Amino acid sequence: MFDVIVIGGGPSGLMASVAAAEHGARVLLIDKGNKLGRKLAISGGGRCNVTNRMERKQLIEHIPGNGKFMHSPFATFDNENIIEFFEGLGIELKEEDRGRMFPINDKAQTVVDTLLRRIRELNVTIWTDSAVKTIDYKDGHVHAVKLMDGQVLETRSIIVATGGKSVPHTGSTGDGYPWAKKAGHTITELYPTEVPITSMDPFIKGKVLQGLSVREIELSVINPKGKTIKTHEGDMIFTHFGVSGPAALRCSQYVVKALKKFDVPTIELRLDLFPAKSSEDLFQELWKLVKAEPKKQLKNVLKGVTQERMLAYLYELHSINAEATCANISHEVLRQLANTMKQFSIQATGTLSIEKAFVTGGGVSVKEIEPKTMHSRKAEGLYFCGEVLDIHGYTGGYNITCAFSTGYTAGKSAAERE
Ligand SMILES: Cc1cc2nc3c(=O)[nH]c(=O)nc-3n(C[C@H](O)[C@H](O)[C@H](O)COP(=O)(O)OP(=O)(O)OC[C@H]3O[C@@H](n4cnc5c(N)ncnc54)[C@H](O)[C@@H]3O)c2cc1C
Repeated sequence: MFDVIVIGGGPSGLMASVAAAEHGARVLLIDKGNKLGRKLAISGGGRCNVTNRMERKQLIEHIPGNGKFMHSPFATFDNENIIEFFEGLGIELKEEDRGRMFPINDKAQTVVDTLLRRIRELNVTIWTDSAVKTIDYKDGHVHAVKLMDGQVLETRSIIVATGGKSVPHTGSTGDGYPWAKKAGHTITELYPTEVPITSMDPFIKGKVLQGLSVREIELSVINPKGKTIKTHEGDMIFTHFGVSGPAALRCSQYVVKALKKFDVPTIELRLDLFPAKSSEDLFQELWKLVKAEPKKQLKNVLKGVTQERMLAYLYELHSINAEATCANISHEVLRQLANTMKQFSIQATGTLSIEKAFVTGGGVSVKEIEPKTMHSRKAEGLYFCGEVLDIHGYTGGYNITCAFSTGYTAGKSAAERE
């Protein structure tokens, strides 16, 4: 009999297995896939963004889905512990922009292999190709794990690390939620987060700006009364269905929530191409350029102010004759251009599906989880960690950090309880 059974071999389950075994438990790790860490291996563009080197306060600010809950698990195992853990196992890490940490060889598989090596060293029993069907409970205590093939494994501690519902081909198909419900847990509404945003605007449908990347912009989500809900800075890309890229992904959950809250068909996004300048300063700059070259065509004088395709679209949008000489360009025309560059409006209709999202929002309610141990408040011997919980961060290593931190905390507590 195993002391602890961990269900799911993503980052949270792998770390839970390590921690439980390091604290003396006999551990069985079960995964339905033929490989462990499949999502981890494709995270961070295949380079695995293992964590983020930020101060605790900032780290929590980057976890919009119940970040405050993470204070306790971080007290047990935080981003610096993750860095020490991997460096201690011989993986050198490097820091990139915004604190993002990657293995120095840019290979996610190295991270997965290192975790697996450690797990084997600790004599964790691993069963792959073994799908769990359900968890059985008896008198308020976990009793057994039932596999799809009919096997029943009795145990005193179970760690559910089955992930969310996003990118299901990696094994994350939401299997853990009904097992949690069966124990009496609440599953908060599931929704896609860190997901590309859709729009039916004519310039999107017409693919006018498709493939165009805009850098160091600000993107804001605006409520139907015109108030800003959230602003994110970063890069963004226009796609054939809407917008994507880091700033759009970060805004996506606010679009999902606003569409629902205000029960409207679209929510406005406002793109600021020049966040460092006021509309007036931008207008003055454009006016200076135009005044200096009265005989040249507008399109030649404004070339390079922003991307050519964007400029061409803006001329069309405002019916500006870009071939006119600058002497014939009015203040009003330039003001219009400057204003649109500061407040380019996109009507968002929604997002791609939860399956296409990077992360699942919602999950097992954190109110019913003991934050110091990740133990369920509903059933004895039951633990949760990772994305199955109602915790989500922005992309940039925050989700993986939460997975490792809650996983380590769950594994350690389960072993210590034994
Ligand atoms: C393309 C992509 C890129 C990402 N990039 C980033 C990034 O840069 N930064 C960041 O922080 N996050 C990123 N994420 C999110 C991050 O990868 C996840 O949040 C993280 O993997 C969640 O870990 P987990 O252990 O909770 O679950 P998962 O990694 O989803 O693992 C769950 C495991 O449980 C197993 N399982 C499920 N059901 C059963 C069952 N019934 N029986 C047995 N086993 C089962 C699955 O096979 C799977 O192996 C990215 C996600 C994707 C899809």
